[in-house]
Amino acid sequence: SAKVIDGKAVAKQIRDEITSEISRMRDAIGKVPGLAVILVGDRKDSATYVRNKKKACEAVGITSYEVRLPEDSTEQELLKYIAEFNANPSVHGILIQLPLPRHMDEENILNAVRIEKDVDGFHPLNIGRLAMRGREPLFVPCTPKGCIELLHRYGISIKGKRAVVIGRSNIVGMPAALLLQREDATISIIHSSTENREEITRQADIIISAAGQANMVRGSWIKPGAVIIDVGINPVDDPNSPRGYRLVGDVCYDEACKIASAITPVPGGVGPMTIAMLLSNTLSSAKRALNFE
Ligand code: NAD
Repeated sequence: SAKVIDGKAVAKQIRDEITSEISRMRDAIGKVPGLAVILVGDRKDSATYVRNKKKACEAVGITSYEVRLPEDSTEQELLKYIAEFNANPSVHGILIQLPLPRHMDEENILNAVRIEKDVDGFHPLNIGRLAMRGREPLFVPCTPKGCIELLHRYGISIKGKRAVVIGRSNIVGMPAALLLQREDATISIIHSSTENREEITRQADIIISAAGQANMVRGSWIKPGAVIIDVGINPVDDPNSPRGYRLVGDVCYDEACKIASAITPVPGGVGPMTIAMLLSNTLSSAKRALNFE
């Protein structure tokens, strides 16, 4: 049965590496990385993500700055905080928690973040560079970067392989496909309008699924020996759980385990990697800004 790709363990290893790099930095130059997180509105899930990011920063020695704005804030008010953090030399990363309230223009806001501090990798210029051959983005979006990092750390080769990405969102599917292409895979992208999805996924040596559809990818969709990275986090009813629900991925785990050669569990796969990559992006930003190697 498939080897389990342990994202939780890899993420811990990465956080330990980051912790020791930051203490080396503190000892050498008396400075540590800083991350600013801006949350607009009171979505519960967003508040949880922000809290987790803050905790993760503290654990590795990154200073975190937090701003919470009310749902009915204007773009001008938000832009004012972004400008302050852009100018603050102690802040090396600026993260705008998405989604923004509907009355705000997301592209306009993301565009205002200094590209050198765009640790989420969502600035249009960073995304553009990700898509262009011969160019390097300053930062790569955290969730897709975490997927590729898992493949690397498990010694799974990507070059020349057939990869299928399920989903084409700006934050996961699209950048995941661009990254795989940069690693010399041959990619197909599947989305809600794709016909014969199953036939396409069955050709894949590597599947990255980010559709947000519980247990959609069945055993019959998978080529024997394929590697599966399951980004999906989907609640399903479970009367036996104290919360009344549990989380599952996009891939039917039990079926996939019998056919795939390696697979990420949900939870404990890609999830923990996302925050680890955010910390890693913030550290590299600080190193670049402070000229510290
Ligand atoms: P999204 O809703 O923005 O995008 C989903 C994409 O999947 C769309 O491009 C859509 O066309 C495609 N899709 C939807 N239904 C499909 C179907 N039946 N067949 C084929 N394609 C289909 O979602 P997102 O923000 O990209 O997130 C996707 C999933 O990943 C969610 O479950 C989310 O919770 C999870 N997620 C996890 C992490 C993490 O850290 N592990 C981070 C971000 C998102």
